[in-house]
Amino acid sequence: MSEPRDIPLAVPVIRGRAQAYLDECLRTNFVSSVGPFVERFEREFAAYVGARHAVACASGTAAIHVAMRLLDVGPGDEVLVPTLTFIASANPILYERGTPVLVDAEEETWNLDPRLVVEELDRRARAGERMPKAVLAVHLLGHPVNLAPIVEACARHGVALVEDAAEALGARYVGIHDGKHVGAIARLGCFSFNGNKIITTGGGGMLTTDDAALARRAKHLTTQARLPGPEYFHDEVGYNYRLTNLQAALGVAQLELLDEFVARKRAIAARYDAALDGLGFVSPPRATWAAPSMWLYTTRLSPALGFDRKQLHARLKAERIETRPIWSPLHLMPMYAGARRLGGDVAERLFASCLSLPCSSDLGDEDQARVIRALVEAARS
Ligand SMILES: *Cc1c(COP(=O)(O)O)cnc(C)c1O
Repeated sequence: MSEPRDIPLAVPVIRGRAQAYLDECLRTNFVSSVGPFVERFEREFAAYVGARHAVACASGTAAIHVAMRLLDVGPGDEVLVPTLTFIASANPILYERGTPVLVDAEEETWNLDPRLVVEELDRRARAGERMPKAVLAVHLLGHPVNLAPIVEACARHGVALVEDAAEALGARYVGIHDGKHVGAIARLGCFSFNGNKIITTGGGGMLTTDDAALARRAKHLTTQARLPGPEYFHDEVGYNYRLTNLQAALGVAQLELLDEFVARKRAIAARYDAALDGLGFVSPPRATWAAPSMWLYTTRLSPALGFDRKQLHARLKAERIETRPIWSPLHLMPMYAGARRLGGDVAERLFASCLSLPCSSDLGDEDQARVIRALVEAARS
């Protein structure tokens, strides 16, 4: 019998008009930062998420970095950020010599706990302490943050709010925030098109905002802060954070498939939920007010299973099924170990008990059945 094939965690799915658009770039010689696809990608992306403006960036990390610059985060400025997130959410705070304050997760959504954010801002107001410069809310694994209390508290205390929606393109609110997409509510939204995200440009990112002045300045910063004219005069320190026309062409093609990908992710999630129900694998969060994108399906192992996520990871790996723990909490890493923290150990408990399962948008039914069989056997062993 032949060996079973590898089932990857999440891989890019490149089809639709990608080939045609890339051919167009090659034929017209617009392969770099000049060309029609960058503007088209920005325009169509803004329309999709419901923001007035979108500025293409070289990566999601670059988008977050530019957001920090736009908010003037600098030495001595604090930024509230969840401890349970990918490192790229927080590193841009350190690039600007700001001070991250790490907020614990909540059980309900696995995102930063809004109660801790509100409590902290209210406490500072009462004590007459300086407010943080910003709150960076991360929509983890495709599930929207419980944003309403944070929006309200930030507005009340004059604190800027940024959404890191890198993992949640396609996710929306339901019955609140006018049913908006994530990344379109705060002053700034940040997205990523890295290879494992729901759509990819190979590498890339996007900054969204309703504020025309912020969008203009973002474009300026991502293009070396060069003033118009032939003299190459730059009026501040900018970055080469542009997305190329080639990448944007891929992005336009991927955006055309996004709704299909989200529908497929949700169907994969529903099938995992149904098959694993009652076996000791707890389904990922789905708040009543949220329509998550289910970007990365992540199951939570209950103690009753009698094995931990490391053992399950090894067992599935032996069956050539790729899985991954969720992000190591930032406070466990040396650069963030000394940071101030709000809350308790929810993030650490999630880190210890959660495992992401294969969920590529093109995951076949047969392959998913193989993953489910392996999990059912593990639970029964
Ligand atoms: C992927 C990701 C980023 C960074 O995106 P890149 O395009 O890889 O730089 C930022 N934040 C979160 C939460 C992410 O998952």
